[in-house]
Amino acid sequence: MNRAVIAIARSPPRSLHQQPPTAFLHFVNTRNFIKMVERLTLRKRTPYNTKSNRRRVIKTPGGKLRYLHVKKLPTSPKCGDCHTALAGVKALRPREYATVSKTNKTVQRAYGGSRCANCVRTRIIRAFLVEEAKVVKLVVKAAASKK
Ligand SMILES: [Zn+2]
Repeated sequence: MNRAVIAIARSPPRSLHQQPPTAFLHFVNTRNFIKMVERLTLRKRTPYNTKSNRRRVIKTPGGKLRYLHVKKLPTSPKCGDCHTALAGVKALRPREYATVSKTNKTVQRAYGGSRCANCVRTRIIRAFLVEEAKVVKLVVKAAASKK
């Protein structure tokens, strides 16, 4: 976390009568100059920089710098046929879908939260043409048997 190290501690110098600062200050050599920065302590137990353990540096209302653990970004649900993002369906982390209402997860159409509108349209047309082909086949068969 490079940004954490480069962030400047802006708190004014404290006199001896004030309480000692809880965060330690140390010097960091950035590209051309030396800065005094506030050291940050981790908020969770795991120190590894994994995908699920990302952190951001924030400034609290009290003026201290602190790690903010950032959750993973959600991806929007995709159409099962053409893999485009589904319109009208919220992009949430998996467990968040359990807490939102059904209107956030679907649209009021056949194959609503699963297939996009264009794919449903082609499915309907295809099914209709298949049925029409069956009818045409029956008609042709009946005309052939009459002769
Ligand atoms: Zn589609």
